[in-house]
Amino acid sequence: MNSAILQDGKVVSAKEYISSVHGTRLYCMDRSCNAPVIYVPGSDNVAVHYKTTGKSDSRHNEHCAFYKPLNFFETVKKVGQFQTEYEEQVMNETIIRINLNKLDPDYESRVIEREETDQKKKDPNEVKVKQESNPPSSIGSLKSIVKLLTSYEADILSTIMVSVRGNKIPISSIVVDQGKAHKLVWKDSLIEKTGYFVYGKVERILRREKVYFISMAAINGIEFSLVIFDKYFKHFTYSDAQLIGKDILAYGFLRKNTYHEKNTTEMIIKSDKFIEFL
Ligand SMILES: [Zn+2]
Repeated sequence: MNSAILQDGKVVSAKEYISSVHGTRLYCMDRSCNAPVIYVPGSDNVAVHYKTTGKSDSRHNEHCAFYKPLNFFETVKKVGQFQTEYEEQVMNETIIRINLNKLDPDYESRVIEREETDQKKKDPNEVKVKQESNPPSSIGSLKSIVKLLTSYEADILSTIMVSVRGNKIPISSIVVDQGKAHKLVWKDSLIEKTGYFVYGKVERILRREKVYFISMAAINGIEFSLVIFDKYFKHFTYSDAQLIGKDILAYGFLRKNTYHEKNTTEMIIKSDKFIEFL
């Protein structure tokens, strides 16, 4: 673990920890667990970290984020929990840029070049990310966001803020399940002009002449579909069999739809690249 909480509830990363300042009473940051942990100084092979000792109550409980490696869904849930619970605390943020413009078949290469030049101008708030053990500083594909969310523990991931047009937003607020996506859309609380990552299980695909609908299995009666218009059919090569029954992460802009007097939520996608299998 890279983070622990002090007796007063403050989060301290192992890198920042100083025993004379922070004391030695340290606890697991997952509040469902709260197991006492100890600080482990770094060596040539291992970075500084915290761990449970396994003695008496210094063990993670089975609901804890650190009890066992988490899968994608469990990770996203825990990161969301941590980013909400510790929102007020400065947690040594890691800023990540997400630029998925290149996924878009409409996006022209000259625009890409311009953006790349812009990106070279340093953001003063950007954390220098050098060590391999740290998350990447930018994300350019769905594969890399899935890799990010499945390669690091929930405490590290919960320090990640995504840079969206000058604003920093917690990563857990744009990687959401379809229920949360639906709520954001219908409460008009979407972050403007921002694509979202939504995960779910594909249940059926309807291919009409002008539009395809890829519908996710409804959760609590909430229907969610990916929509592709005919202009982009040539960029969408998946067969029904490749998608149906699969857990996927999709990226795109969300919008409302009302169908048979029922409010549903849709995501517009344009090609295979807007979908990643989980
Ligand atoms: Zn724990």
